[in-house]
Amino acid sequence: MSPVLVYPNPTLREVSKELPSSWWYIKSYLKKMKDALETMRAMRGAGISGIQIGEAYRFFWMLDEQGNVELAANPSFVPSDKSLLRYVREGCLSFPSVWGTVKRYNNILATYERSDSSLSKPKLVDVELTGLKAHVFQHECEHLDGKLFIDNLFPSEREKLLRQLRAS
Ligand SMILES: [Zn+2]
Repeated sequence: MSPVLVYPNPTLREVSKELPSSWWYIKSYLKKMKDALETMRAMRGAGISGIQIGEAYRFFWMLDEQGNVELAANPSFVPSDKSLLRYVREGCLSFPSVWGTVKRYNNILATYERSDSSLSKPKLVDVELTGLKAHVFQHECEHLDGKLFIDNLFPSEREKLLRQLRAS
């Protein structure tokens, strides 16, 4: 495993690069992905993106409600129904032990190359995600663009959260 980069580490603001079309044949990418999964498990996170361990490539791991883990490579999404914006409590491995309330779509149409914990050959999927998985997907996609969940908070809540973070 690798140490998780913690805010305000400037690397967290980098925009991650697309993975090449046959990334699953390239050992160096598989190694980065395995490393990220081990780190997520050790930290008991529900999701982790490559950039959080300093690997600026467009992939992340996510957990669903059943505890199944999935790799998403070169992901993108659109909201499947804009009326389903919800406020959800969210944390982030890069913000240890603080939580904030952010707006997330409850249903999204996600496109990504899906693989599993053994990193078998991925399938390009186009699927509707709901609930926790949809929220994690949105959170992790933001990481790949150098955005962080605190960017979505009301300014007063952001200030409070950053104070807690400095005090911890
Ligand atoms: Zn995060």
